[in-house]
Amino acid sequence: MTSCAYETSIQFLVPLEFIWKFQLGKMRYPLSSSTALGLRCPNCDSEGLLTNDTEYNVDNFGSVLLNVTSCPHCGYRHTDVLTLTNREPVFLRVKIRSLKDLNIKVIKSGTATVAIPEFKATIMPGPNSEGYITNVEGILEKIEDALTFMLSSVDSVRLRKGKRMLKQIRDSREGKSGFTLIIQDPLGNSGLVAGADQSKITKRKLRNKELARIKFGQYAVKMNIS
Ligand SMILES: [Zn+2]
Repeated sequence: MTSCAYETSIQFLVPLEFIWKFQLGKMRYPLSSSTALGLRCPNCDSEGLLTNDTEYNVDNFGSVLLNVTSCPHCGYRHTDVLTLTNREPVFLRVKIRSLKDLNIKVIKSGTATVAIPEFKATIMPGPNSEGYITNVEGILEKIEDALTFMLSSVDSVRLRKGKRMLKQIRDSREGKSGFTLIIQDPLGNSGLVAGADQSKITKRKLRNKELARIKFGQYAVKMNIS
């Protein structure tokens, strides 16, 4: 992983006003629906932010709480997922080799760092990073969207490199080339579910050294174009 090559990477800044919400994301909510938190909206500053928790049972994984925070005044919305079982710092890895592998389920919490070394892509848990349940293809789609967005404001050299990466990602979405998906989550709310093929997934506790390296940065998405 090339997590320290800051000079050659393109970084996507997240506004500082979202930081309070990051702290909110670490709180434990009761299992109730629509509770007024009496907190202010990070977008429009109105009081009366609402939070809604829904419990889901994900096959071969366990109970997952989907939390949606929303503002009735401006429409602001933020989602995150919490795992109700097996909570310890987790390292997950899967080699994607076929179209079928793209269907592997991904539970990605707001505190997860998602990396695809072959694309030099890392999605870091920035203050505004969301949690969601998707599949491997959904993760590729998010990285493709982030890269496309970043390429709208780079110089021609980086644009060329970025376009090559885009092609690599699109080839992978069509099953033409393989890659490795790595998820590191210090709060253990994330998971990979491959059903009958669960043996494809490497799962272990995060080492202290790794934990120290995945500090929650100020950047939500980092693509290393070098
Ligand atoms: Zn608002």
